[in-house]
Amino acid sequence: MASLPSSSSDRIDVFWHEGMLKHDAGVGVFDCAMDPGFLDVLEKHPENSDRVKNMVSILKRGPISPRISWHTGRPAQIPELLSFHTPEYIKELVEADEAGGKTLCAGTILNPGSWDASLLAAGTALSAMKHILDGHGKIAYALVRPPGHHAQPTQADGYCFLNNAGLAVQLALDSGCRRVVTIDIDVHYGNGTAEGFYHSDNVLTISLHMNHGSWGPSHPQSGSIDELGEGKGLGFNLNIPLPNGTGDRGYEYAMDELVVPAVQKFEPEMMVLVIGQDSSAFDPNGRQCLTMEGYREIGRMVRKLADNHSDRRLLVVQEGGYHITYSAYCLHATLEGVLNLPVPLLPDPIAYYPEDEALAVKVVNSIRQHWKNNVPLFVED
Ligand SMILES: [Zn+2]
Repeated sequence: MASLPSSSSDRIDVFWHEGMLKHDAGVGVFDCAMDPGFLDVLEKHPENSDRVKNMVSILKRGPISPRISWHTGRPAQIPELLSFHTPEYIKELVEADEAGGKTLCAGTILNPGSWDASLLAAGTALSAMKHILDGHGKIAYALVRPPGHHAQPTQADGYCFLNNAGLAVQLALDSGCRRVVTIDIDVHYGNGTAEGFYHSDNVLTISLHMNHGSWGPSHPQSGSIDELGEGKGLGFNLNIPLPNGTGDRGYEYAMDELVVPAVQKFEPEMMVLVIGQDSSAFDPNGRQCLTMEGYREIGRMVRKLADNHSDRRLLVVQEGGYHITYSAYCLHATLEGVLNLPVPLLPDPIAYYPEDEALAVKVVNSIRQHWKNNVPLFVED
């Protein structure tokens, strides 16, 4: 086997722990753990361990494997969680675990084993960030589940219990980073992370998502362009709701016109790329049309920003992505982009949906105009 590339920006330090496979949200009608009795074949909850097993195996056996360095994650300690979450909420989770489980909100089911997996996800994300902060590597990827970006300081939401990325961002701030940016490309609004830093001008939270709006009491945020942050944080939460069907070219346009200029003006000292492959063309939980090439290009663009602004320091955090096959392939492509490889290592086995980018371009242009009127700081002249 080839030895690892010596330069730390030519390899990715992946943090993972197989204990995270122990979270099992059961079977039922898609993500409702219920069986009304009409179906012979119930399916696994979409956030199941198979999806992550394939992510691990493609990084171990795919062509990117010589550039991956594996590190074992660890559980978070309860006091660490209080840097992002309230004591009352953590107490609720601990008690739910002690009681043998609880459905915290729609589709978000804490079963025996789930709490241990959640602590591992949070601790593993913290370890990955610490690895970068301590100068042991430039680019780290926290391969974690259950996902975290919907978990708010006070409540669970959307399959998420603890906000893994948010905890990592807070660790960077507590370690002296003055400006951290999060770019969230999961197909759903990163509402939990946004909520955690909504009043802060130290964290620029940017989310590209489908326009799904609020989905109930666990997710009161709308993800609209008007949720810009509050107080000192006004202007430091940038939402980019893209029309259904937005694909590679639409995302690239949004990155070029909105995300790249905003990050350039913010001048982050640390970058966090929050990834979900549920923005792919084949995901059961999303209505966007990214293919491997789109993810690869986003990875390249983010890498370029890290090269120019954060001394190449980039943490990638795993969120959703529910197609068992394509999520793994799209992850591989994203990390190829992050490594800035000149030619694709892995061909796309299934991309074939057409993309009509006209509506996406129109929406991106209107978002830019909205920012010009409201947060001119982050818009290119
Ligand atoms: Zn998602």
